[in-house]
Amino acid sequence: MESMAFNRLILKLSGDVLKGTERSGIDFNKVGAIAAEIAEVHNKGLQIGIVIGGGNLFRGAEIAKFGYDRVIADNMGMLSTIINALAVQNAIENLGIDTRVMTAIRIVELAEPFIQRRAIRHLERRRVVIFAAGTGNPMFTTDSAAALRASQIGAEVILKGTKVDGVYDKDPLQFPEAMKFDELDYMQAINLNVGVMDMTAITFCSDNKIPIIVFDINRPGNLNRVVVGEDVGTLVKEVKS
Ligand code: UDP
Repeated sequence: MESMAFNRLILKLSGDVLKGTERSGIDFNKVGAIAAEIAEVHNKGLQIGIVIGGGNLFRGAEIAKFGYDRVIADNMGMLSTIINALAVQNAIENLGIDTRVMTAIRIVELAEPFIQRRAIRHLERRRVVIFAAGTGNPMFTTDSAAALRASQIGAEVILKGTKVDGVYDKDPLQFPEAMKFDELDYMQAINLNVGVMDMTAITFCSDNKIPIIVFDINRPGNLNRVVVGEDVGTLVKEVKS
């Protein structure tokens, strides 16, 4: 059997990834394509938890700019992650894999509430678990939810799927001479301020020693390359001793 770099992981999917080439909303073909990549690594025996974002639908901070209450705006943001989670759930189940959506806000007619031990049990029973509604609290992001859930389920790594193939010293889409880092420590990632994850999330990962791999999820086969330990993307971890 092919050797894996990890056994249990959190895949962070931002809402942007789900919108594909659309301006906003969900590109269902794109969700299907990502589900196929997830199915491939799941079928290798990996335990996968997915933390889903909502930026393709609503981001609280952007709604608040119109003079709306930030807490209500964030609630709308958290609800969008549940909509995304249902799309991802259906796309993965279409490939014959059992899944559960677990939410940080109770919406029990649609999904299970998050209960740590139950989440771990699902993973052990080979279900892909999709964590929705972020942390359940306003003012946070789903990156922080990824860090929190990773520590709660004992994930060995957070794979942050983005549209660039790692962390650069400046925006590679704007500056062709931008330099990619193969490895960074948490403090460097914070100081660079290049949007690996928000500061709260990186600090949490640092405190709890959870490595993060930032990689291009849009490149077919990349998720598989990461889990078999190929040098893909940028690894953020403790300072080398
Ligand atoms: N959100 C929140 N608390 C959380 C996670 C998310 O209030 O713990 C809200 C917040 O408004 C955020 C939105 O949900 O803007 C969508 O999440 P996020 O921006 O992290 O999604 P992504 O950028 O990953 O698509």
